[in-house]
Parts: sequence; C-alpha cells; structure tokens
Amino acid sequence: MKRRDFIISSALTLGGTVLLSGCGKNEIKKSEDQVVRRKFANIDTPLIALGCMRLPMLNGKIDMVELDKMVEYAMAHGANYFDTAYMYVDGKSENAIGEVLKKYPRESFILADKCPAYLVKTQADTIRLCEEQLKKCQVKYFDNYMVHNINKNTISNYRDNKMYEELVKLKKDGLVKNIGFSFHGDPQMLREVINEHKWDFCQLQINYLDWEVVNADELYDIADKAGVPVIVMEPLRGGVLCNLPTKAAERLKQECPDDTQASFGLRWVANKKRVFTILSGMSNLQQLKENVNTFVNYKAMTEKEEQVAHEIAKIIQSGGAISCTACKYCLEVCPRGINIPAIFGLYNMYKGNNAPNAKFMFVYNYNALEESTRADKCIKCGLCNKNCPQELNIPELLAQVDKTVKEVEKIMN
Ligand code: SF4
Ligand code: SF4
Repeated sequence: MKRRDFIISSALTLGGTVLLSGCGKNEIKKSEDQVVRRKFANIDTPLIALGCMRLPMLNGKIDMVELDKMVEYAMAHGANYFDTAYMYVDGKSENAIGEVLKKYPRESFILADKCPAYLVKTQADTIRLCEEQLKKCQVKYFDNYMVHNINKNTISNYRDNKMYEELVKLKKDGLVKNIGFSFHGDPQMLREVINEHKWDFCQLQINYLDWEVVNADELYDIADKAGVPVIVMEPLRGGVLCNLPTKAAERLKQECPDDTQASFGLRWVANKKRVFTILSGMSNLQQLKENVNTFVNYKAMTEKEEQVAHEIAKIIQSGGAISCTACKYCLEVCPRGINIPAIFGLYNMYKGNNAPNAKFMFVYNYNALEESTRADKCIKCGLCNKNCPQELNIPELLAQVDKTVKEVEKIMN
C-alpha cells in the first residue's frame, strides 16, 4: 500500500471518515491508508479504536505531545474512535483526550465514555456524572455512553438507581447518542442484563484465551443471540497474548509468519461478526502504528489460523494450568465462600504469562480478592470436590496456589 498523505480540504461524511478544516479546527491530514470499518447503530466505526486507559506517560504525567501525535495519526487513518472512562489514568484520561480532541471538528471523531456504576448511589447520580464527564471531555455529547463495569458488586447500583432509565433520558436530551454497558460478570448475569432492556451495544472482554479457558464464548453467544452489537475490550488479555510462551510463539511464527502476536490476536477478535470495534489500550505511537497497519491491511482469519489460535490457547493453558472451566458448581457448597474459580483463573493466567510484569499482576490481582475468600482460608472439608465435574482435587490445588503466591511474594520483596 502507498503511504502518501494528502490533505482533504473539504467534504465530510457521517462518522468522520473524511474531513476538513474550518471553524479554527485542525485540518485532518488524511492518509490513503484507511482502517477497515463496520457499521454500528447509526454511525460507522473503525474496527480498531484507541482505548485511553494506558495513555503515554512522561515523568508521572500524561505525555500530551505523544498523545497529540497519536490522535493525529489515528485520525489520518480513520481510526477515529476514542474510549475513555471516569477513573482511567487516575481520573485524568477524560481531560487529556478532551484537550486533544477539541482541536478537531466534533463530528470527525467518535467518543465513548462510561458512567462509573460503583459511584452511582442515587438515581440523580447518572446524569450528574455524565454532565461532569462532558465538561471534562469538552464536548456537548458522547457518541457511546455506557454503564461502566456491571458485575456482582455493582449490579445493585445499576438496578436500584435505575441507571438504564437515566441513560435513556440522556439519549432523549441529545447528550448521548447510543447507550450500552460494559460487563465483567458471569453468563447468567449477562443474559439477564442484556434482555431486561433495549441496548444499542454492549462491551465485553473477548480474546482467544478467554474463549478457551474462561467463558468469553458464552458471553459472545448471548450478545449474538440477543442481537446486541459488541465492542471488545482486552483483546490481547492485558498483554498476555503478545508475550506468548516460547512454544506458542514458535507455533505462531511457523503458521503465520506475517503476523505479529498482537496482529494475530486482534485479527482473531475481528473474525467475530457481531464485533464492531476493538479497543486496544495503546501507550505510544509505535503501538498505534502497528495496530493501524493490521486494520489497513486487514485479512480475515482462515479456518487454519483459527485452529492455531485454539492450539496456542491450549499451550498457554498446559503450562501448568489447572483445568477448571469456571462452572462455579463448587461455590454452591463451599461453607467458607472460597472464590475457587477466580483463584484458579488467576493462577492459570500467571502460569501462561511471560510478560515482564506477570508476577506483579498475579500477586496484585490475587490480593485484590476479598481476604476471606482466598486459598489460605480453605478448611479442607472436601465438600467442593463432590461437585466438580472436572474431578479436581480442589483443596490440594488451592494449597498449591497459596504456596505459589507466597513464593512469588517472597521473590518480589
Ligand atoms: S475444601 Fe475448601 S474450598 Fe472446598 S468446600 Fe471445603 S473450604 Fe471450601
Ligand atoms: S467445580 Fe471444578 S471446574 Fe467448576 S469452577 Fe469449581 S473447580 Fe472449576
């Protein structure tokens, strides 16, 4: 593909694929190389989007110069979807992306933001927070606005404070265009949430590892059957899928020599037809260029490549992973409320993770579990074993995880 840039001085389209100067706003130097797009609700979205959770940092602050360059490059290549949230980068992400985007005509970019369900304690909070967020982002409306992170801890805030009904009011008033939710619960909860209202979209964690070892396949299937478009978060499993174990990396190189680990993971997600955009938290211009390149020269995955993804997931899992399917049957009988599937899930991610921060992430996430539900609180009664369809010796495995956590903590201290 040619890389010649040129300036479009006039013309516009819905979704901002082609744009212009005027009204004191930045000209968009539009490249001939445009990322592929999919139609989503009433706007076109690029298949790859800039997630603003891991913005470039310099001396402990957001590097606005680098961010400016990233936005300029993204806009030039049609990757004009930006996703922020109230608490990203210690609450500074919205201000930063708003400051950069204000240089562009509002209709040239798609901005998504999220209402933090954990902060919604009264019915009035949703609209109050949205208005605050619009000010921080310096815009008059959000294209996509969602209940942020529905899970077992926030579902009562969402329901009791009628967050959906408040989002509908925001939509009627033109302050948001499309309404949805991001989700971190189990399939049963997703089924309930997705069917209790009319949503424009949902945002789910989907990648080829979660598809195999957790329940991303079930979550996607629920959204697909409900006809709700999907925005994907964590397509590379927080970096796990671009830091593959050696055996998996070799397998990928052998079968897909033209792919990077990241492009392979992103293309796998893009093969899911109900996915309309894929959020990738990018921290520098180089990462953005690589991801844009994947979707400028986009190739759908072949069946053979799908099979390779399946094999790689198995390799990651086989690196000492526990064959828990997260069915949660054990939870029904545990008298101590030990969070068995979550503990095994974190352990499995750690065992298959070559990322430099893997130890830190394992201990950090493990210690984020409620203390009374951790592995060392198991009393070895064995009741859970009777319920496990995988016939795992759960107390023994919990002891193994506990030992590993303590060993890793020792190395880190
Ligand atoms: S053995 Fe441990 S995890 Fe299993 S039911 Fe008893 S307390 Fe719970
Ligand atoms: S019953 Fe077994 S497979 Fe199911 S969540 Fe518990 S440990 Fe995992």
